[in-house]
Amino acid sequence: MKRRDVWPVLIFSLFGFLFATQEKESRWNELLQHLAEKSQLEGEKLFYFKKLTPFLLDFIFADSQRQFPQKIESLQTVDELRKWCETIMGGDLIDFGEKMFHYFEEKAPPYSEANRRQFESEHFVFLTYAESPGDKDMPMIIDNSEKVYAAIQDIFGFREEVEKSLKTVLNKEINKEQKISVYIYPSRTPEANKHLKKTMGASSFGATIDEKGNGRLTARLNILYFNGFSLAILYHEIAHIVLLLGSFDITQLTAKTLQGESDLRNSFFAGYKKIPLFLQEGIGDYATYFCGFYSQWPLLPPFRELVLSVVSCPESIPLEILIQESALFILKNHKRYSLEAASFIRFLIEHYDKNKLKQWLLSGDKKPKENFERIFGLDLKTMEKKWQGNLKS
Ligand SMILES: [Zn+2]
Repeated sequence: MKRRDVWPVLIFSLFGFLFATQEKESRWNELLQHLAEKSQLEGEKLFYFKKLTPFLLDFIFADSQRQFPQKIESLQTVDELRKWCETIMGGDLIDFGEKMFHYFEEKAPPYSEANRRQFESEHFVFLTYAESPGDKDMPMIIDNSEKVYAAIQDIFGFREEVEKSLKTVLNKEINKEQKISVYIYPSRTPEANKHLKKTMGASSFGATIDEKGNGRLTARLNILYFNGFSLAILYHEIAHIVLLLGSFDITQLTAKTLQGESDLRNSFFAGYKKIPLFLQEGIGDYATYFCGFYSQWPLLPPFRELVLSVVSCPESIPLEILIQESALFILKNHKRYSLEAASFIRFLIEHYDKNKLKQWLLSGDKKPKENFERIFGLDLKTMEKKWQGNLKS
């Protein structure tokens, strides 16, 4: 075969593929529009319904065994679609979510490392790749980031402390001050791999010396962003960095000009407070469930239902273990851990003075149980009964 003969075949199959994709997408859009109108969705609920649902359907119908589109087209309301999705997601929503992210990751196309773009909001500077999903979703990312940043500060009532620390931040790589840098990777590029290892998101917090010899903080987030669902990762990491900034005491770091690495190290650790691990990870999961799209996207079951199904099963993690366990335990039991932790932290936020949470945050990472009982004035067993009673009421 001569080389030229290949062309018509290639062109045909390319058009065929484009046509099929466009047809499928517009059918979904029509269907979603119809369901949203029937159910009178508006505001954020409508926004996230239209923004996230096509990716969910994309994942569901990637399984070619599923019938499309006859069944889904017979649905009349958003609630019917939610129930239909529930039968497909099964009982384990987090497990389903993990598989979905895995699918998005496999589908993510490569991007050129050179094609970088930079955006700014009041407290963040975002680095993306041109034309990547994160680049296109930037207004939504900025809006969500600022909201979560404000919400986590309010929970602990330490806005001033966070702002004070943020003023000392310097991002040397991009020569930007007083902002948290957020690197948004569309796939596991070599650079992403350096910062993320096997995770979807990571925060790094440390210190450096500027050209005048002053100590400065560094604050950087790294996020894999495939589509709007990846906001869940961003919420979690923002919560971490706000806690780190809010609990840091900058006095030593900024007291004098610093002489080299060991001086920097000493003045950084003089201001750095170890945070109880439960609070650090729990607040990340709290942010994921309560500060973003979770409560707005109408295809998810109410959070309370999810937690109740976890705490009423025999494998539920008792509070005493939940708040004292190690990072390895969290990793191994992440599904139950994250649901229970987010729920318990929400209970504390709704029923106790924010000063108590702040005191616990600053009480160090040793003896979290004893510190908790002293600060809240209750033993854990009693607290557990109150929390679960509240869940069931
Ligand atoms: Zn975390």
